[in-house]
Amino acid sequence: MELQVKPETKVRHSSRIELSQSALKKNVDFIRSKVSDHTIISAVVKANAYGHGISTFVPMAEKCGIRHFAVASSYEAWEVLKAVTKDSTIMIMGILHPEDLEWVIDNGIEFFVFDFERLRESCETALKIGKKAIIHLEIETGGNRTGLPEDHLVKALSFLKKNRKCLEFRGLCTHYAGIETLANQFRIIKQIQKFNELHEATQKFGYPPELRHTACSAATLAFPETTMDMVRVGTALYGLWPSPDIYNLHLMRENKIKDHPLHRVLTWKTRVMHVKQVSKDDFVGYGTSFQAPRNMRIAVIPIGYSNGYDRSLSNRGYVLIRGKKAPVVGLINMNVFMVDISAIPDVEVGDEVVLVGRQKNNAISIKSFSEFSNSINNEFVSRLPDAIPRYRVR
Ligand SMILES: *Cc1c(COP(=O)(O)O)cnc(C)c1O
Repeated sequence: MELQVKPETKVRHSSRIELSQSALKKNVDFIRSKVSDHTIISAVVKANAYGHGISTFVPMAEKCGIRHFAVASSYEAWEVLKAVTKDSTIMIMGILHPEDLEWVIDNGIEFFVFDFERLRESCETALKIGKKAIIHLEIETGGNRTGLPEDHLVKALSFLKKNRKCLEFRGLCTHYAGIETLANQFRIIKQIQKFNELHEATQKFGYPPELRHTACSAATLAFPETTMDMVRVGTALYGLWPSPDIYNLHLMRENKIKDHPLHRVLTWKTRVMHVKQVSKDDFVGYGTSFQAPRNMRIAVIPIGYSNGYDRSLSNRGYVLIRGKKAPVVGLINMNVFMVDISAIPDVEVGDEVVLVGRQKNNAISIKSFSEFSNSINNEFVSRLPDAIPRYRVR
């Protein structure tokens, strides 16, 4: 077991996160099997690598052959730049403050451009520091989030072409508006058609991009026609299915009733902090949300909503102790919560507690959190605090 980058502190944190190198390798291999040989896999590591921890995760991905990383802000690009151990490319898909443009260009970091003004600005800055700005033109295809309006495309292309001394036209891209849900397919099909039409327009204009990229995890796993020259994969890389629709589609195509090509990379653990007896009819923790229906034994867990264990798991979630499920009783507090261990003999202070992951023959999936707390997979993991130490394990 290996703690990466962040120095070990003198004292222990209340929990730990372990990242599995072998699970990640399997996920990368599976994703690679879905794209053609020339297609670049860009690992999306926004939101602290979906909560996995950029400083630990990025070198792990590099070990699996990943050399392209996508983030949502210049701040995250800075974090990735500190973490890379190879000559990897970094690409900003979201917020890039004008004040950061110089730093971004100077470090060879690529970025999405979705308005014409940004092209002008980038060219100016690039000329000033004598380095090319590397541009991915994000075009509007119907998502109506960020995206260059269609009627600005020709103007943008002529600007790019005229200023190719300072601007490199690396990519043409878009993002699908809910491709993980088959009910949105009517929208997605239109987006794909629009993208292809606008790509043709760049060819007609005589200045096509080096790369076309549109696919997130769901698109990569389920819609091969979207994978093109590069895919931007987050969710699947971490071993999570983007949605039940995409998983079911996979089973249908493979003609299987069960298949597990993706493997959860993250495990979250802590230890029992305290054990006590509670008499029948007593209340547990704050307020009156849990009253003991019988004499019980409970364990106190040193984790709360401030650590990313959602308050909506009050009286609903469960953890694993000695390989058995222990249900949460009472409210999730800021730093602790309680579980019922009446059915688990011999639990002691210091016993390992698994919040997410496997223990003996039982496992708690990240998906189960979505079911309990009405959040989506990515919401839960992306909120795991940066302060929890991350360890790389085999
Ligand atoms: C987050 C994001 C992705 C990755 O999405 P996943 O579904 O997690 O694979 C790809 N492209 C853009 C623009 C994104 O914001």
